[in-house]
Amino acid sequence: PTCTGNPDLGECGEEQGSGVEMAEQSLLNKLIRHSLVHSSNQVEVLQRDPSSPLYSVKSFEELRQRKPELLKGVYQMGFNRPSRIQENALPLMMAQPWRAQNLIAQSQSGTGKTAAFCLAMLGIVNPADKWPQCLCIAPTYELALQIGQVLEQMGRFCADVRLVYAVRGNRIVRGTKVQEQIVVGTPGTVYDWCAKQKVLDPKKITMFVLDEADVMISMQGHRDQSIRIQSRLLPKGCQMLFFSATFEDSVWEFAERIIPEPNYIRLKREEETLDNIRQFYIMCGSKEEKFSALCNLYGCLTIAQTIVFCQTRRMASWLAESMTREGHQVGVLSGEMTVEQRAAVIERYREGKEKVLVTTNVCSRGIDVEQVTLVVNFDLPVDLKGRADNDTYLHRIGRSGRFGKRGFAVNLVDSQRSMDIIRQIEAHFDRKIRKLDLEELDDLE
Ligand code: ADP
Repeated sequence: PTCTGNPDLGECGEEQGSGVEMAEQSLLNKLIRHSLVHSSNQVEVLQRDPSSPLYSVKSFEELRQRKPELLKGVYQMGFNRPSRIQENALPLMMAQPWRAQNLIAQSQSGTGKTAAFCLAMLGIVNPADKWPQCLCIAPTYELALQIGQVLEQMGRFCADVRLVYAVRGNRIVRGTKVQEQIVVGTPGTVYDWCAKQKVLDPKKITMFVLDEADVMISMQGHRDQSIRIQSRLLPKGCQMLFFSATFEDSVWEFAERIIPEPNYIRLKREEETLDNIRQFYIMCGSKEEKFSALCNLYGCLTIAQTIVFCQTRRMASWLAESMTREGHQVGVLSGEMTVEQRAAVIERYREGKEKVLVTTNVCSRGIDVEQVTLVVNFDLPVDLKGRADNDTYLHRIGRSGRFGKRGFAVNLVDSQRSMDIIRQIEAHFDRKIRKLDLEELDDLE
C-alpha cells in the first residue's frame, strides 16, 4: 500500500490492514484474552433452510453429540454455559452426521468462536478411526498453535483423540500417512502435505474449519491455497465452517464462493459512544509544553488507568523516554515490538503494574476500554489531509454503552490548527470539549 503523507511509514501497513499485521493483531488478541467479551447485541441467524427449526442451546448438555469426557474438559476450562454465539452455532455445527450444515460465522474476537469450533471438531471425531477427520486452517503458524492449545485443553479427557500440526518445519516421514484425527495447520503446508507429499489423505475429512477468514483473504497466497484445498482436495459433502472477526463484505463474497449453501450467524460488536465521557482540552504552546502539561497531570493519570496516544511511533518513544527521565513510570507499546512483547506490556498494564501506557493508534487495538478511565490525546488524531479523524477519536476514547462507567478525555492542543481540529470534533459529535486549566485538575480526581 502507498502511504504518502503518513509520517510513520512503518505503521501504515497496519493502518491499511495488511494481512500479516492483521494476523499479528489476532494473535495479540488471543494472547491477552482471558475471558469472554460480552455483547448485548442480538445474534443474527440466517438459516439456509428457513423451514427447519432454529435450535439454540442454553447449556452444553443440550448438545446432541455430547461426549461426557469432552464436557468434562469444557467444564474444567471454566465454561459454565455457551456464549451468545455458541448458543446458536454449536447445535448447527454439531447436527452431524444426520445433516451436515455449512456455516459462516462473524463476531468480534473474544466471543467464543475458537472454543466453538474446537468443541465441534472434538465432538464429531471418532477416536477409533486412525485417519484425519477434521481439518482446520489458520493464517499463521502461531495462530494454528493457539487453536491446537485449545483443542488439547478441551480434549484432555478424550483418550485416543490425537492432533497434528501441519505447519512449516513439522515433517512427516515420506511414505507414511497422518493418522491423527484432527489436523490444524496453515494453508500452504496443508496443501503441500495433501497434494505434493501425499502424507495427508483428505478424502475422509468430514469437517473443514477455516478460521480468521478475513485475515486469510487479505493474504493472496492463503486465499488461493484455501480455495485450492476446498475445491480440489476435500470430499463432496464435507462440512464447511468459516469464522471471521470482522464484517467486511469481502469475507461474505469469499465464503459464498466456496461454501455451498451456507447458514449465517453473526453477532455485531457494540457501538462505541461518547456518552459518559467528559472531554477537555488544554492549551499548550509546543511539544515541550504538552510534555510539561502531561507531567503536571501525572498525579491524575495514575489515579486512573490512562492511555496516552501519539500520532507517530517516534513521538511515542520520545514521550515515554522523557516521562521516564522525569521519574514517572510509564509503559510503552510500540510498532517494532514483537507480539509477545506487546502482550507482556498490556498484561502489566492490566494488572495495574503500569498505570500509564503511551502508544500509537495502531498498537492500542485489543486493549479493552473498560479498563481505561482516562485517555490523553498527546497528538490529536488526523487523517492524511490533516483533518480531524473522527473515527479514530471515537475509537480512542469512546466506549460501548454497557460499561456505563464515566471516562475522561484530555486533548493537548499546541496550535491554531489543532484548535480547529478540536472544533471539528466537537461539531461532528455535537459534544462540548471544555477548556481545562491546570488549576482545575481537582475536577478530574
Ligand atoms: P474468539 O475465537 O471469538 O476470539 P475464544 O473462543 O478464543 O473467542 O474465546 C475467548 C475467551 O473466552 C477465551 O479465553 C475462552 O477460553 C473463553 N471462552 C470461550 N467460550 C467460553 C464459554 N462458553 N464460557 C466461558 N468462557 C469462554
